[in-house]
Amino acid sequence: MASDIQNPIFTDESKAREALEAVRWRDGCFCPHCGTMEGLARVQGKSHRAGLFYCNECKKQFTVTVGTVFERSKVPLTKWWLAAYLMSSSKKGISSHQLSRALGVSYKTAWFVSHRIREAMRVGSFPGPLGGEGKIVEADATYIGGKEANKHLSKRDSKRIGGMGKQIVHTLVERHGHARSLHVPEVSGKTLRPILISQIHHNSFLMTDDAGQYRHVGKEFAKHEILNHSIDEYVRGDAHTNSVEGFFATLKRGITGTFHHVSQQHLKRYLAEFDFRYNERQARGVSDKERTIKAMQGIEGKRLTYRPVDGGLKS
Ligand SMILES: [Zn+2]
Repeated sequence: MASDIQNPIFTDESKAREALEAVRWRDGCFCPHCGTMEGLARVQGKSHRAGLFYCNECKKQFTVTVGTVFERSKVPLTKWWLAAYLMSSSKKGISSHQLSRALGVSYKTAWFVSHRIREAMRVGSFPGPLGGEGKIVEADATYIGGKEANKHLSKRDSKRIGGMGKQIVHTLVERHGHARSLHVPEVSGKTLRPILISQIHHNSFLMTDDAGQYRHVGKEFAKHEILNHSIDEYVRGDAHTNSVEGFFATLKRGITGTFHHVSQQHLKRYLAEFDFRYNERQARGVSDKERTIKAMQGIEGKRLTYRPVDGGLKS
């Protein structure tokens, strides 16, 4: 797909539907009403909806979109594929305004589609902790957003002055492996300890900067290397936090450069998006096409509806 924005799934609705069938039914077609894989027949003929199936078990009809976010959406599948492709292949993400222009849909529709795809990119449940024997896990926190400090005094929200309206993101990166980001309320031992204990295998080498919050919990791991950033120590042999810092650099360029403002309420979905692209990155052998397909696979079963501040969204 990289050289292949010409792919017919972006323009031909029946090709887009066939591609979704291949993704959703990769282990075989099943009836979304009763779950059977037996006695399913394609309903042929011009008088029927394209892609229609009939289930001989429960006597109901279905298409590949039944039971997915696509079912109630009026957005054609070609546009869902294009949105998933654009979001999967652009390193910094794509804003709803850009997406609206690329898809030829309203801003509201683009917003709806992009949040559904972000939700699809979110890992439902982690397979286990990061790291393991001989493996390195880097941990760090960063601040995202917040322009309160730059605003004219009269326009500042006094309640936000303390933290300058910034949100704290804490990320773990297994070196050459996956990233896991969390929006945390504060950087404290009390907040970070349970995250590190549950998300990092205790046989791992932990690498952090010299933030005091890591000192205690660091003793729970095979080894804890502390980089003394306050005296400009950034690399000591194998000890560094360049992976997590590289992740933050991309995240910040994306969030401030592309999205400008991310509300507290939606931050976790943007983090899921950046984690997803990092975890399925080119350097780990994942192509843009494979990443797009993985994003579309994640849509299965995720039917959340969003009711944002500007009113109900239907698309
Ligand atoms: Zn059935």
